[in-house]
Amino acid sequence: MVGEINFACGRCPACARGLRRHCPQRRVMGILNADGSFAEYVALPTANLHLVPDSLSDEEAVFTEPLAAAFEILEQVHLQPADTVVVLGDGKLGLLCAQVLRLTGAAVCVVGKHPHKLALAQRFGLTTALLPSWSPQPADVVVEATGSTSGLKLAMDMVRPRGTLVLKSTVAEPHHLALAPLVIHEVTVVGSRCGPFPPALRALAQRQVIVTPLLDAIYPLAVGADAIAHAARPGALKVLLRP
Ligand SMILES: [Zn+2]
Repeated sequence: MVGEINFACGRCPACARGLRRHCPQRRVMGILNADGSFAEYVALPTANLHLVPDSLSDEEAVFTEPLAAAFEILEQVHLQPADTVVVLGDGKLGLLCAQVLRLTGAAVCVVGKHPHKLALAQRFGLTTALLPSWSPQPADVVVEATGSTSGLKLAMDMVRPRGTLVLKSTVAEPHHLALAPLVIHEVTVVGSRCGPFPPALRALAQRQVIVTPLLDAIYPLAVGADAIAHAARPGALKVLLRP
């Protein structure tokens, strides 16, 4: 089984409209009023559970939640096969988003600062560009997946007039950014968070998306603190705990 992390109340107007991931009373696993999953046993609502196909390993299935977040972009933005798409950010989320968006036939380029991560993207068959030596052509759709203030500014600069800017990472710290260019260029801005599990599980099972090269290490739960330290290292990719 894999589990969706947003626990909805199931009774409010948002839930009635099918917006369970936006339930105002929701609890969020490991984030808001609900325990996380660094444990031998976890409890979550049965409505949140999805069966993992037998063909998938645990190491692949753990990518369902972030991959679902990548599929959320396709729920929100109608990509055309002739579109040019830039994914800004070569971390786990960026590499998952790029692989998902490519399924539409659109030309997808991953732009990042880490040569070893861009090399992974190339292994997945994606086009890449290394910052800062890259000079952008305005793209139809730009997905911001860097998590940094400077990334957001760069993403705004990359999108063409009347193009779409998808904000996929949460920039936690307050920041100042002039928004006038969004008005002048009539850019559509789309905030994007958690997404649907079923297409993510299908894409994994059909090997449409490659995830296991994104694994850096697997630690036993007993040395969880070491795993957290590993995950915090600059350039680290996915670090797993095995209960
Ligand atoms: Zn609700």
